[in-house]
Amino acid sequence: MAKRQSQLLDILYSRGPAAAKQAAKQQHRGLASELRYPFLAIVGQTEMKIALILTLINRAVGGVLLMGARGTAKTTAVRGLLDLMPIIERSSCEYGCEPEDVYIYGMDGVCQDCAKKLGMGDPITQPEPMKLVELPLNSRLEDVVGGINERVALEQKRVRLERGILSYADQNLLYIDEINLLDNNIIDAILDAAAQGQYTVRRGPMASTYHSRLTLVGSMNPEEGFLRPQIQDRFGLRVLVRGMADAAERLEIYHRAMAYQRKPYIFVQQWADDTESFASEMAEAHKRLAKVTLTPEVEMEGLRWIERLGIDSHRTELTLFEAGRAYAAADERLTVTIEDLQAVALLALRQRQSNFATTYFNEQTVEDEKIKAVLVTP
Ligand SMILES: [Zn+2]
Repeated sequence: MAKRQSQLLDILYSRGPAAAKQAAKQQHRGLASELRYPFLAIVGQTEMKIALILTLINRAVGGVLLMGARGTAKTTAVRGLLDLMPIIERSSCEYGCEPEDVYIYGMDGVCQDCAKKLGMGDPITQPEPMKLVELPLNSRLEDVVGGINERVALEQKRVRLERGILSYADQNLLYIDEINLLDNNIIDAILDAAAQGQYTVRRGPMASTYHSRLTLVGSMNPEEGFLRPQIQDRFGLRVLVRGMADAAERLEIYHRAMAYQRKPYIFVQQWADDTESFASEMAEAHKRLAKVTLTPEVEMEGLRWIERLGIDSHRTELTLFEAGRAYAAADERLTVTIEDLQAVALLALRQRQSNFATTYFNEQTVEDEKIKAVLVTP
């Protein structure tokens, strides 16, 4: 493995119990109202952390599926991302007008207010951190895509289309816990919308189109039912979240959990400086991504692995290359190396073949070894 330049990746790869942090700072950081377990305080689970960070840096990675038993910090990790969210440009108009609508449709592409603002040279978007939207498990299709507001329809005898959870998740992270327990039609709607970046709802004569540029994270416990292989293939990265085997690490998890439970404010304070500098490195990586490119040699090597593994899906190279770009951006470089592709290969290549079965953890070990063997550079 090549030497890494960035602190960002070094922090994620550092294994085991980290050194005790500096004493809690006295000054108030405005954290009281939004205490959550810090992402960086999660012990181990490097693969999960890397995958989540890569998908935040580059939405084109195509989302992350976290597979593992309960109590392996999946939800804690996803919620911890809230402290690390990149800044995006979001429409400040209730109709969601954006400058690119003008490039495509001309001034008719935006509302009157926004047309006026653009005419005066004023911005119609504002910088804002990405948000986390969690899909409730009991969601109905209507809640997800939107539909007719029945209350308004009954009380006021007029029909109005309501926005769904998907449209609120535009340019945000949509987290679907226990995705394998959702109805297939809902999963399909979400994956279609995420792939297209927009979707249209039709109810009788009414139709409305919404942006749905989602960063998708799903989690599932394989003991509680499987996801169809076709659905798994539509997630960019697959993470196997296992419990820790190492006794010292397990103890550290316990100690940190108790410290957080007893004095959450102080615990969060102890991690605040690290979290803050990590977040600013994330922001830099997010900005850097647009300039990161792959050389033809690196592309050919990636394609060679996919061919040798006999993987059909064309999403595979898209994910592999985009994850490689995110990885290089995280490492403060503008060119993707073969080492970058190797670093993300297990995440991007596993379970692309449809040999999904009840013994899948065992099979996975074999497949992972096979992938690693192919990755050895001659
Ligand atoms: Zn507008």
